[in-house]
Amino acid sequence: MKDFVEVLNMYNEFGAGFLEVDRSDPVSEIHVLNLEISKCKKCPLYKSKKNYVPGEGSINPDIIFIGEGPGETEDQFGKPFIGKAGQLLEKIIKKMGYTRETVFIGNIVKCRPPNNRDPLKSEVDACIPYLKRQLAILNPKVIVCLGRVALNNLLNENYAISRVRGNLFKYGDIPLIPTYHPSYILHKRDRNEISKVKWEMWSDMEKVLKIVHEG
Ligand code: URA
Ligand code: SF4
Repeated sequence: MKDFVEVLNMYNEFGAGFLEVDRSDPVSEIHVLNLEISKCKKCPLYKSKKNYVPGEGSINPDIIFIGEGPGETEDQFGKPFIGKAGQLLEKIIKKMGYTRETVFIGNIVKCRPPNNRDPLKSEVDACIPYLKRQLAILNPKVIVCLGRVALNNLLNENYAISRVRGNLFKYGDIPLIPTYHPSYILHKRDRNEISKVKWEMWSDMEKVLKIVHEG
């Protein structure tokens, strides 16, 4: 498989697009993609990261959740959303009737930006093709963008998340619902604010479930 990836990279570098992986086998397509990510040096973030965090979950998911990039815990273990924000996301996923394993969880960039700063435009431009390939392979029923960075980089827009959360967008043919990033909730101190924002996020997820179940 390693040789195959090298050949694939070589053809990609020379601009020959005719060598395609088998479109009917998402398991091997995701495998090839993960191997590519595991040696990526397309932007400087690979130098400061501990582990690549390609994303993980079902290869036939109803829903894909997209965050901005790995934080400290994710960087340490190579898995998306396993720190504090991840635990809250997992609660929401369970309340929706799913588990981490039955959805897919990914990020805009696959390497941790130092001090969890927003990824730079150049880093997003380098990394986002991986996410777009994941979306093409996995073809979910709904995409959930967690926060401004995920939404605006995927759609090439400049929305304020509090204004557009819960609205229906499209990524190609795929319905997309943006909502708050779970860490936005965790950073709130005021009890009333927290319950308001949680309630809003849950009402966004009810819209997601409605699309999954009714199309
Ligand atoms: N925040 C993110 O945006 N992504 C992760 O994977 C973890 C925290
Ligand atoms: Fe490659 Fe993305 Fe990591 Fe940059 S952030 S090195 S583009 S995997």
